[in-house]
Amino acid sequence: MLCVKDLSLQEIEAFVKDLGFEPFRAKQIFYGIYANRVENFESITTLPRELKNILSEKFYISSINSAKYEKATDGTIKFLFSLRNGSAVESVFIPWDYGLKERRTLCVSSQVGCALGCAFCATGKLGLERNLSAGEIIDQIFECEKITGERLTNIVFMGMGEPLQNFQNLVKALEILTNDFVKLFSRRNITVSTAGIVPKIYDLAKIEKPVKLAVSLHSVFDDVRQKLMPVARKWSLKEVREAVVEYYRITRIPITYEYILFEGLNDGEEDARRLAKFAKAVPSKVNLIPFHRIDFMPLDDFARSLKPASKEQILKFKSLLNSLGVRAFIRSSSGYEINGACGQLAFANLGNKNEWLKNFVKLQGNSFQKIE
Ligand code: SF4
Repeated sequence: MLCVKDLSLQEIEAFVKDLGFEPFRAKQIFYGIYANRVENFESITTLPRELKNILSEKFYISSINSAKYEKATDGTIKFLFSLRNGSAVESVFIPWDYGLKERRTLCVSSQVGCALGCAFCATGKLGLERNLSAGEIIDQIFECEKITGERLTNIVFMGMGEPLQNFQNLVKALEILTNDFVKLFSRRNITVSTAGIVPKIYDLAKIEKPVKLAVSLHSVFDDVRQKLMPVARKWSLKEVREAVVEYYRITRIPITYEYILFEGLNDGEEDARRLAKFAKAVPSKVNLIPFHRIDFMPLDDFARSLKPASKEQILKFKSLLNSLGVRAFIRSSSGYEINGACGQLAFANLGNKNEWLKNFVKLQGNSFQKIE
């Protein structure tokens, strides 16, 4: 059986047409699943009996369960979602209130674990188990809305995994989320964050409804960046910049750069000046992110040596960027107390994190395996 949420509206249309039904039936199915959030085809009352029967035989409507969730005092909630084959991912709900403007953001995962192994990231220590399907990406959103009772306003692909390494399923999920018929999200409220998978940045620029792009830089020196992010050995900063320039040229959407500040490594004046030059290649903003500890994971010497820049240094770095004409913001550490902040997603703190890790995953060097 196939998950119907892994199909775009066009694919459902092709399916119903092949069966001899009118194409508008596809919209009824789509509306039932995404607007009315039905859990079975029987509940889509507008469909003829024969089509309901065929759909029930061939497809299922997926859902995921939150095995656990934990709320921080700042309102951030970290979910542990269990998936169909026994895998699990985490997502983080971040509520923001800016006076009259309220934002409800979900940081979704695109993979179980991640293959890229960034030195500062707990997910990277897990290794990659598998890609999530489009349905599993969307189900994180639906389940979060169900549990919180809140309508999400923004989606950021900054949870577990490198979304551009799960490109096909990412694009399918984006097609569904931005579909004009059900209007779940505006493409302007969706951000895909990448560590810099250069060829896929070019590909993402060409999708029908491009979304916001965030690029993790963390250093503007190739040698330092390569230490922090092994993927940088494959694509240099020059190649990342060229891809980003092209992304902006095609989409006209300003770029966001993510930059974690580490004491003595990338927080100096020269770093800020080079970062400003890099960022000004196209309209952009820089998010400065405090480093969040990941010492609940096994770390190598380099990862263990990483220290957060002080608050004063972060403020100084930001001021310098601002004075150089760069829009720079300090990202909050939402969810830090529940290990749900940036870079911390690795199944920690859900219950007793050590017990949980012991029971669910067996750490083997840099990868993990479920204990059957
Ligand atoms: S920061 Fe992103 S790309 Fe790097 S290891 Fe973590 S999840 Fe993967």
